[in-house]
Amino acid sequence: MRLIEADGKALLAEAGIAVPAGRLYHPGEEIAAASGRVAIKAQMLAGGRGKQGLVRVVDGAAAAAAAGEIRALAGPAVPLLVEAAVDIAAEFYMAWRIDDVAQAPILMFSPAGGIAVEERPDALREYRADPRRPVRPHDLVGFFRAAGAAGRNLGALARFAAELGRVFRAIDAELIEINPLALTSAGGLVALDAKVVVDDNAAFRHQSRRGLVSHALEQAGMTALERRAAEAGCTFVELEGNVALLTGGAGLGMAILDLVGDAGLRAANFVDAPGGSGPEVFALQSRLVFERAARDDVRAILLYLTLSASSLKSLVTGLLRLLDASPPPKPLVVGFAATGSAEREMTMAEAQGLFGQRGYACADNLADAIAALRQVAG
Ligand code: GDP
Ligand code: MN
Repeated sequence: MRLIEADGKALLAEAGIAVPAGRLYHPGEEIAAASGRVAIKAQMLAGGRGKQGLVRVVDGAAAAAAAGEIRALAGPAVPLLVEAAVDIAAEFYMAWRIDDVAQAPILMFSPAGGIAVEERPDALREYRADPRRPVRPHDLVGFFRAAGAAGRNLGALARFAAELGRVFRAIDAELIEINPLALTSAGGLVALDAKVVVDDNAAFRHQSRRGLVSHALEQAGMTALERRAAEAGCTFVELEGNVALLTGGAGLGMAILDLVGDAGLRAANFVDAPGGSGPEVFALQSRLVFERAARDDVRAILLYLTLSASSLKSLVTGLLRLLDASPPPKPLVVGFAATGSAEREMTMAEAQGLFGQRGYACADNLADAIAALRQVAG
């Protein structure tokens, strides 16, 4: 789940990271006049607000007027964050992210932060942390010195980054991006912005996040089918194509999406379930896919699964029961990739025969499945 700035900052503040004092105003809520200068910021799941006039730093007396201007630009449904403005001496960029290829947390830093960070790609540096142990400030001194930090800032940045790395792990984040990380005129470091993405696979450890504004926004942005999948812990993304997909495995699902595209067709959905989910989850997924397929824009359904150790016979038996009980609303192409061990109780040829009897094309490899799909949907 991607968090709006206010929710991200609340998580950071709770974990002891310095953020400006602020308050979230819901749509329609009147902005109170404040003393001193305030930063008013539209809370939406998109960046680049500074360049679009959706962040204003104004005198507290002018807060309501500035909020009105932001609402006129961003739309009336957007919540606003109003914070005590910070006196900025320098703006840095700092982020922790998971690198799924390196399988490690990566610290990113640029001394040239702020809204123009992308104009100085050469200034951005990365430090790969050891996922097996916490990062300590002294591990990072060399990194920050090489990145151009000196004097008091060097130690402050190393401490801040190590602490942020601890929080990154504790909140099960995939990304914490702070841009700008402000060096204040008093010499402290404050997170002026926060883009936080938390790992949905760890949602069970953080039940209270279901009460966040970000969660409500995410729900509001979903279609009915997507919401039903999410409630069951699955992923379902509605797309605008003409082939409904029932695939197993996120990586294979993405590859099939591309292959369907290469064949001149377009996917009508993407679907994925967590590893190890049982037949009930599969039944729900097939219901969702068939409901998507029932709409006029869809011409065919592709069901493609891979089996390694599990039995082709038990899969085919379950699948046929499901299809007999609720027939697919559009022509169905079935495909399996099975290992020899999966075929121990039923051979692929036998499986193909059973599907064939019912009028479903059944391929024993992906290329043939796509070819069959072109025949029925092309
Ligand atoms: P983004 O453009 O969506 O990433 O929004 P940011 O939260 O990063 O805000 C954009 C810019 O507004 C920042 O780079 C800062 O220069 C400025 N800004 C944000 N908050 C404050 C603040 O409290 N004081 C001052 N002086 N500037 C701020
Ligand atoms: Mn920013």
